[in-house]
Amino acid sequence: MTRPLYFDNNATTFPAPEAVEAVLPLLGEFYGNPSSQHAFGQKVRHQLELARESVARLLNCKPAEVSFNSGATEGNNTAIYAALQARPDRKHIVTVKTEHSSVLEVARNLAGRGYRVTELNVDSAGHLDLDELKGEISGDTALVSVMWANNETGVIHPVGAIGDLAKQFGALVHVDAAQAAGKLKLDLAEEPAVDFLTISAHKFHGLKGCGALFVREGTGFEPLIRGGHHETGRRAGTENTLGIVALGAAADLARRKLDAHIEHMRKMRDRLERGLMAKCDDVTLNGDPVSRLPNTTNLGFACVDGEALLMMMDAENICATAGSACRSGSMEPSHVLKAMNVPLWAIHGSVRFCVSRYTTEDEVDALVEKVSAIVRRLREISPFGARSAPRQPTDAELEAHKAYFARA
Ligand code: PMP
Repeated sequence: MTRPLYFDNNATTFPAPEAVEAVLPLLGEFYGNPSSQHAFGQKVRHQLELARESVARLLNCKPAEVSFNSGATEGNNTAIYAALQARPDRKHIVTVKTEHSSVLEVARNLAGRGYRVTELNVDSAGHLDLDELKGEISGDTALVSVMWANNETGVIHPVGAIGDLAKQFGALVHVDAAQAAGKLKLDLAEEPAVDFLTISAHKFHGLKGCGALFVREGTGFEPLIRGGHHETGRRAGTENTLGIVALGAAADLARRKLDAHIEHMRKMRDRLERGLMAKCDDVTLNGDPVSRLPNTTNLGFACVDGEALLMMMDAENICATAGSACRSGSMEPSHVLKAMNVPLWAIHGSVRFCVSRYTTEDEVDALVEKVSAIVRRLREISPFGARSAPRQPTDAELEAHKAYFARA
């Protein structure tokens, strides 16, 4: 298969060659179990501890505060349950409507089991309201769980201010940093209110099925997965040695070259955004244009069906993600865009494009050419768009398109 035009880097990323190279010895002679007492196993143990130090340097925390797991879904589940066990007298959880399902679904499940769950609203730019948080939080709040940056829009939450508020009420703070690692500076010494933080290796050029959980020293902790003494009792099960070593290498790269990576991603993302907006009329940006990840743009194309756009992009070997996903035959609009009050018609025409440190100008230019041609074609055949090519939709057609979804 030829290399795709890959603009889906919030879904997963290209494994860094340095990370792949680092795991090669583990695929061969270094197959020892890191929990074995013999020197053969301890050689692998040593590699894991080096990786732990790399992750600790990335987060600016202590190696002993980092445990490895299978990724951010597990990290989020573990952190939520651990926080509730550390505050057994409290029965309230605060989170945000735009969180990842690995937080929202855990919280919603707990809502049926004796906990009260508040899902904070966001405004049209994707930001939560600190006053609403202040009004909701109380001495009964065990946990405030927020993501550092949103996977669909890239919008960044003010983790420090949220943490400070939580601390005023003695609540624990969990931050899902799955999308922030490798794209923002994460300095846990500068964020003392954060008690738990999750990252996922495959979101920043490591391998899939591996992540890390930060638990601040002194915070009560109960493992979710039991049955062994691995990870100093924080997560049972023989470690994913390949994933962990790759994560260590990815963390080193992300830390050492962060500024250059951010600058490159921002340049590519802005070129993409400007290019598509110049070539297609009626394109809107979903989310805050400024306070967002440097690699993410979420664009709404009026009079275009996002799923059709995605299918036509797929036929041209372009990878991106639509604002509405086809699940079990029905089109489910993104819960993130819905929470931001993006109208249904606009959600259905929304697509997320995410660049990476490896994205090139040529790839961006090819994407802009191909996607703008597909958008024009879809508008020609759209019942709501222009029929006589090539022209953009009229105001009346735009209104008809909106009205259709208002009825739906
Ligand atoms: N949180 C966020 C914000 C994510 O984007 C993702 C991945 N889509 C996850 C959690 C889950 O990560 P993982 O794939 O490592 O389970």
